[in-house]
Amino acid sequence: MNFDLGVWYHLAQEDWFIRWGLIYPGVWFVVIFWVFAFGACIGSFLNVCIWRIPRGESLSKAASHCTVCGNPIRWYDNIPVASYLILRGRCRSCRTPYSASYFAVELLCGILTALLVVKSGLSEQSAAVIPGRMLLIFFGVACAGTDWRFQVVPNKLTFSGMAMALLLAALLPSVWGCDKFWMAVIWSLLSGVIPALLLWLFALAGKKIAGQEVLGMGDVKFVAMCGMFLGLPGVLFTVIAGSFAGTLWGIIIKQSFKAKLPFVPFLMLGAVIWIFADIPLLDWYALLFIR
Ligand SMILES: [Zn+2]
Repeated sequence: MNFDLGVWYHLAQEDWFIRWGLIYPGVWFVVIFWVFAFGACIGSFLNVCIWRIPRGESLSKAASHCTVCGNPIRWYDNIPVASYLILRGRCRSCRTPYSASYFAVELLCGILTALLVVKSGLSEQSAAVIPGRMLLIFFGVACAGTDWRFQVVPNKLTFSGMAMALLLAALLPSVWGCDKFWMAVIWSLLSGVIPALLLWLFALAGKKIAGQEVLGMGDVKFVAMCGMFLGLPGVLFTVIAGSFAGTLWGIIIKQSFKAKLPFVPFLMLGAVIWIFADIPLLDWYALLFIR
């Protein structure tokens, strides 16, 4: 049987890494540095989102200020990653230590975006896959952050993520192996709706049988968003790996099968693994299905 994975996921072989001169160490270093800086800046904005969206605060209103002494944070103290290191994670005025999670989110976004570009280039993947995956990293980190901190996955984040994924499918249909934009949009939509429907049914059944909520609607919407960015093979892996990681964490760290855990950070871990290991994982899928 010939199972064409290209229908699900088009992995074009392109040598853009060479064409853009990225094989030269000097060019490579400069480009990767700025990609890292870009990712870290977005991470800094995501910190604001994680803090403000669950509380219903406006993202544009009020410049950043210290939540303890109220002093405004100057632009030179607000440089992603660097300022945290220079000020040793404290407010310049009142010296109150800030949570290391701000620093972690900036660093994580910087590293993941830089690694994404390196990985796509070295594996000769089409550069067209980068924007969608970058957006998934940003939306995913924001959702994981709000779920971890406040146990909510805001619709504002998941629905905007879905809209961006569909828009991107229309703009870059080649990622979906399509030449017509509406075909790609349909593939993207189905890749989100199908797993979300299955999980929703699972959640309903779980509630009936266990008598308590096993899966929140926020998690279901997050999975739909992942599917719209990654396609069916990717979202399938995300859910399996996420469930596995969450269960393992519950057993080892919380020492319980029934611990109430935020699910989205684990799903996000699954999605990130897929983003960086999609080629070997697709080969493995192909072996499973073609035999
Ligand atoms: Zn302060």
